[in-house]
Amino acid sequence: MTYNYLIVGSGLFGATVSYILKSRGYKCLVIDKRPHIGGNVYTDSVNGINVHKYGAHIFHTSDKRVWNFVNSFVEFNRYTNSPVANYKGKLYNLPFNMNTFYQMWGVITPEEAKEMIEKQRRESGIINPRNLEEQAISLIGKDIYYTLIKDYTEKQWGRKATELPAFIIKRLPVRFTFDNNYFNDKYQGIPEGGYTRMIERMLEGVEVHLNTDYFGNREYFDSIADRVIYTGEIDRFFDYRFGHLEYRTVSFETELLEGVSNFQGNAVVNYTDADTPYTRIIEHKHFEFGQQPDTVISREYSKEWRSGDEPYYPVNDKRNSDLYARYKALADGQEKVIFGGRLAEYKYYDMHQVIGRALELVEKLG
Ligand SMILES: Cc1cc2nc3c(=O)[nH]c(=O)nc-3n(C[C@H](O)[C@H](O)[C@H](O)COP(=O)(O)OP(=O)(O)OC[C@H]3O[C@@H](n4cnc5c(N)ncnc54)[C@H](O)[C@@H]3O)c2cc1C
Repeated sequence: MTYNYLIVGSGLFGATVSYILKSRGYKCLVIDKRPHIGGNVYTDSVNGINVHKYGAHIFHTSDKRVWNFVNSFVEFNRYTNSPVANYKGKLYNLPFNMNTFYQMWGVITPEEAKEMIEKQRRESGIINPRNLEEQAISLIGKDIYYTLIKDYTEKQWGRKATELPAFIIKRLPVRFTFDNNYFNDKYQGIPEGGYTRMIERMLEGVEVHLNTDYFGNREYFDSIADRVIYTGEIDRFFDYRFGHLEYRTVSFETELLEGVSNFQGNAVVNYTDADTPYTRIIEHKHFEFGQQPDTVISREYSKEWRSGDEPYYPVNDKRNSDLYARYKALADGQEKVIFGGRLAEYKYYDMHQVIGRALELVEKLG
């Protein structure tokens, strides 16, 4: 055999396992069907601005091991995710906190904010919420629901909030402090110089072949390595024999605005009204506090997924969970192939979780 490991996919999962296996002296080949490394965390430099090509990626974790791991390749900056919501031209801070309550009602103290929410919850009279709308109103009251949740959620799901199940919103993060930090994790930031640079460093010294689809020459690839680590779609691996797994997807309309140095003053602005067709505008330079004379923005549109679209978010309903369980049973029976990452495990993982899973896997491999 030419290689100890063939790694299908150069995303975070593939790059993490490749780095560790290489440092243990194993000979690895990484292949990716895309023309670039990094999978969905890939950043492309446009006029000196790192553009998150497959959607905004903010690294956050409370796992010190994972944080130290990523920081051993690149420095992370102090970026803190503090999105702003635009509802019909009026701005509100997110996640829901004292700034939001002040902007919504003019309340000054946590006591006043709590009273207002409690009053609206009581007035709603909802005891057993039957759908997402009732669930949200019963948790936070009607003002926040109609201004910041309803239309945004309907755009995201392409369905009325009254037709969506209540369980989608189990609880709503509410803070009675003036804290706009979206995440509760201990560590947070963006790799200086972009995610592509981080992945390049992880893959240093590993042979990588791009524009190379495993299924273009499966027998050959299986014949050159002792073991295969597969990070692609699990249903495709088994030729969709039980049917296709479904996803939700997003389409991005990215625009370079030459001569505009600061378009919206924040990396993430959510549009929470029904008239604006997109859900968010991302202004990429703010992830790295960029001072360039130009800017790049991406409008995000939620879309129903069709076969051939980018598979972004797994759909965790019964049909898809059952289907995945059948594919997983086949995967467990494969001796040579190990399945890992968000597509092969059909699971929404944040970046720190994917790295954690990859570190666990290589530990088992010894
Ligand atoms: C829109 C969006 C926003 C996100 N934002 C965040 C965020 O803010 N913070 C966060 O922590 N996480 C975020 N995530 C999650 C993050 O993207 C994932 O955790 C991470 O990228 C998963 O890495 P992976 O290696 O498992 O998968 P991928 O990145 O999908 O990598 C898989 C790779 O395998 C390749 N491949 C597949 N099939 C084949 C084949 N047959 N042959 C060769 N190559 C193949 C693909 O081309 C791809 O490069 C976001 C995800 C999405 C979709």
